[in-house]
Amino acid sequence: MEKKNKKVVVLPCSGIGKVFGALARETTYELVERVRPNSAVTTCLAKLVIEDTETKQLVKENPVITIDGCPKECARKSAESQGVNVARSFQTIDFYKAHKDMKPEGISELDETGRRLAAIAADELATVIDELAVQEEQ
Ligand code: SF4
Repeated sequence: MEKKNKKVVVLPCSGIGKVFGALARETTYELVERVRPNSAVTTCLAKLVIEDTETKQLVKENPVITIDGCPKECARKSAESQGVNVARSFQTIDFYKAHKDMKPEGISELDETGRRLAAIAADELATVIDELAVQEEQ
């Protein structure tokens, strides 16, 4: 069976007014811009909710992961409510629990500690992107 590389779509929650929501966005940027620029992509979750054709096509043809700021899991639930099969879902608060010495601050913009935690979270998610990017071709 042939292997084929796909893009992995990373959907963060909007997280307005919440530090862990800001961490979800920053982790996504770290993933798509620094850690896996050739295999991770992101798009605006709202475009999925309004059923934008291109966005629907993107999430239909590629594996999707969601990164939420808290247990409410708005990104995962929004994606699934649109019929998206979410391959893996994460909550940024768990990355903080694993790195308790790095308490992020900031809402519209993360502080230096928050940006470092986002970079660590993105590094830890690299293997997930790699696994999902390589799909068995049917
Ligand atoms: S998952 Fe939590 S932080 Fe993210 S948008 Fe929902 S309530 Fe806000």
